Amino acid sequence: MSPFSCTSGDAAATGHSGCLCHRPEIHALTRRIGADLSRRGFVAGVAGSVASLGLPKRAAAQPGSERAGPSHPILFTNFRLFDGNSGTLRDGLRLLVEGNRIKAVTAGNPAAPDGAQTIDCGGRVLMPGLIDAHWHSIFAGLPLQALLNADFGYVYLAASAEAERTLMRGFTTVRDLGGPAFALKQAVDESLVPGPRIYPSGAMITATSGHGDMRPLYDVPSVGSRLSRMEQTGASIIVDSPDLVRLRVREQLLQQASQIKLVGSGGVSSPRSPLEAATLTEPELRAGVEAANDWDTYATVHAYTPHTIQRAIAAGATCIEHGHLMDDATARLMAEKGIWLSIQPFLGTDDAIPLTGPSQARLLQVISGADKAYTLAKAHGIKTAFGSDLLFSGTLTARQGTMLTHLTRWYPNAEILRMATATNGELLSLCGPRNPYPGKLGVVEQGALADLLLIDGNPLENIRLIEDPAKNFVIIMKDGKIHKNTLNS
Ligand SMILES: [Zn+2]
Ligand SMILES: [Zn+2]
Repeated sequence: MSPFSCTSGDAAATGHSGCLCHRPEIHALTRRIGADLSRRGFVAGVAGSVASLGLPKRAAAQPGSERAGPSHPILFTNFRLFDGNSGTLRDGLRLLVEGNRIKAVTAGNPAAPDGAQTIDCGGRVLMPGLIDAHWHSIFAGLPLQALLNADFGYVYLAASAEAERTLMRGFTTVRDLGGPAFALKQAVDESLVPGPRIYPSGAMITATSGHGDMRPLYDVPSVGSRLSRMEQTGASIIVDSPDLVRLRVREQLLQQASQIKLVGSGGVSSPRSPLEAATLTEPELRAGVEAANDWDTYATVHAYTPHTIQRAIAAGATCIEHGHLMDDATARLMAEKGIWLSIQPFLGTDDAIPLTGPSQARLLQVISGADKAYTLAKAHGIKTAFGSDLLFSGTLTARQGTMLTHLTRWYPNAEILRMATATNGELLSLCGPRNPYPGKLGVVEQGALADLLLIDGNPLENIRLIEDPAKNFVIIMKDGKIHKNTLNS
């Protein structure tokens, strides 16, 4: 039966003219959908078919909201460049943005193309947009109680407001490590709302009692296949066998997850799940890794301790989230195998909401482990990404840039900036064909995606400029589109 047909009984009940199913366009649509029911053609086919009905396609059809950015080229002149990799600034260059790409970075003084807007940067520093490799677009800006209890429509609206603030802090891309961010990503990509590029993982895949199992105790024991609220919303999902892992991972991939997050140990914000606890078993982790690899992307595993990190590596994980309690042998193993470390510089209790009880004790464990973990990562040359993992407060998220500058404890400024741009961009690209934004991110070079910041001052000398983006970030461009420009104000 075709998906949009009604029976003749329906037609009699509704009257012929009132029943949409009998309009010729609908018959054409159902024929097209039938023809398009091939694996990848389906979504595009439905969109194309609906558009052919003359229904509003989406906001991309509205003026000023084109995904490709402004129609005129933009030429930046008179800047000093941090390109994402080089430890020094380069002078005497001009940079041309066309559509959503960097068309050219050239020395000398070539003429501006016809119709180009020229921006004289006044000798300021131009650099790639910042990337946060561990962010929760839906959970970052709202108290946990609101996330657990509010109408989810409110949660999405609050996340949308936080997405704009994220972009205005100069973070033009985030890698989302758990939460129902797919709809927000779509709305941002369609320019319905301003926000960063989002690399979504979808729901965290966790075990009963693991980090992310936030069920109230009255929901325990679970009843058959009934999902808890947190699972229904797509925040996290509970699995207790390799088969269930496969099912739930594939569901995230179906929703266009760019990478998969598996939970291998307890976590700070889950009061009943100790950091030392190993949650998903090695066969369960392996099932998740394989399901992700089958879609040519990768799985990253939330793990703090040597035992759980080593288990994740044995199961084939590409990346470890956190890792604050690692030891020397584990660091050596990560380096040998080329496993990425996506770790967050938690230095003090200011970096989290006020916590009590077991959650506070776990935050203190993480803070006390941070120095050793970063020292080991440096000593062994582990590929290390920067992420902030700020959660549950719209005031705390203002510290996203401050989290980055915490890295001065271990790294020189140039290395910190490289980590939050080119290095994080390299991590993002590991999702291969699942990359929602094909093109280079985190670098300023010909052909890269046009995500740029113009900084009033030199962050290589004074990295703390990043802590006050409202004052110091003069231009914020994402996808070739200028979202902020205070150059002449
Ligand atoms: Zn985590
Ligand atoms: Zn997290």
